[in-house]
Amino acid sequence: MKAKGKKALRYRLVQKQFGLCFWCGRPLRSATLDHVVPKSKGGTLGQGNAVAACLQCNAEKGDRSAEEFVRAKLAAFRDFLQSEGFSMVRRG
Ligand SMILES: [Zn+2]
Repeated sequence: MKAKGKKALRYRLVQKQFGLCFWCGRPLRSATLDHVVPKSKGGTLGQGNAVAACLQCNAEKGDRSAEEFVRAKLAAFRDFLQSEGFSMVRRG
């Protein structure tokens, strides 16, 4: 994909996501284009496989699939809740 097309796609995605990172929901200060299906698994950076993500999430996700990445994020969130002693989180 040409650089110009990438820029337009990123702009469109940022608009669509209300300026928030697709993965963590934090406001995007510098948006990057991220693959949902990673390049290493045959994903291309086209419509339907690209999201706007913050630099941190893009780096963290690496070549994991969306499912693996979301699961890891959820596990980290659960650990955080548990460590903070939230009673709504059941152990085990
Ligand atoms: Zn993020």
